Amino acid sequence: MKDVLITYDYYAGGSIMPGRSFSANSYRYGYNAGSEKDDEITGITGSHFTTYFREGDTRLLIWWGVDPKADKQPWQSPYSYMDGNPIWKNDPKGDCPPGVDCDDPVEKVDIVSSGSSGKKGGIFGNTRGGSFHGGLDIRASKGTDLKSTLPGKVVYAKNNHQSDEYSGKRRGSGTHSPTTGYGNTIIVQYEIESDFNIKGSDGNDIVLKKGQSVYIQYTHMDKVDESLLGKTIEKGQVLGQAGATGNPGYYEGKWGIAEEDRHTHFTVGTKNQNGYMPKSGLVDPRVFIKTPIDDQGNVIENKGN
Ligand SMILES: [Zn+2]
Repeated sequence: MKDVLITYDYYAGGSIMPGRSFSANSYRYGYNAGSEKDDEITGITGSHFTTYFREGDTRLLIWWGVDPKADKQPWQSPYSYMDGNPIWKNDPKGDCPPGVDCDDPVEKVDIVSSGSSGKKGGIFGNTRGGSFHGGLDIRASKGTDLKSTLPGKVVYAKNNHQSDEYSGKRRGSGTHSPTTGYGNTIIVQYEIESDFNIKGSDGNDIVLKKGQSVYIQYTHMDKVDESLLGKTIEKGQVLGQAGATGNPGYYEGKWGIAEEDRHTHFTVGTKNQNGYMPKSGLVDPRVFIKTPIDDQGNVIENKGN
């Protein structure tokens, strides 16, 4: 009989929000810079893109095709593009923030299956039988280099744990810390380059504004490069090596994780409290990697690095 893995990421969660349901279709108005440019149609550079579902014209803010989910929006013309509001809505079927070319943290992205909900348990939101998971569990075996998906400034880099050391207890002190369940952790501060909508932790869209900071957190690492603290880094720069520290899962009756389920818990939020990322600031992390992931945690198209 196969062992059942129950993954429990520290702070990832735990909290059940009765009565709240997660909208799997928050991204109705897909638009992303990774889509194929199609300038020859209008002859105006940047004026026309092809998306997965339909074509939109960025000058007229009118969709060329009818929204396939238009019946869900009876108050709105099926041809209106983002309510005529040029705040870009993002789409996990595309990739990266609008107008930005980001990277993947590992060579080939895969989401770890965990709990009874399969891959869905490894993605952001109320994905574990109603309990909240704050990050994206990106598979990474021990020793794998993890790379920054975007340029930015390293604002947190701490090795609180020894290799393969689990639990939320800080080594040496014996006291619980709000950050040690993440294990060895590094955070990159990234500045938003243009306004866009993104799914927040309550399942509703929030707006990320140009110039606003978001914090991109990589956790459960074997070792982070502490020398990067305070430094400005490039996209693709190595932040440290993946592993299994903190509380990556509960396995065979104790904190730990099976070799094949090792991952980095990749989290993005607008609030960083000295390494701790409060749930109220969390946003859909899928937007901050290159490879698009669907709502079930499956890779739509592997983009690689
Ligand atoms: Zn996780």
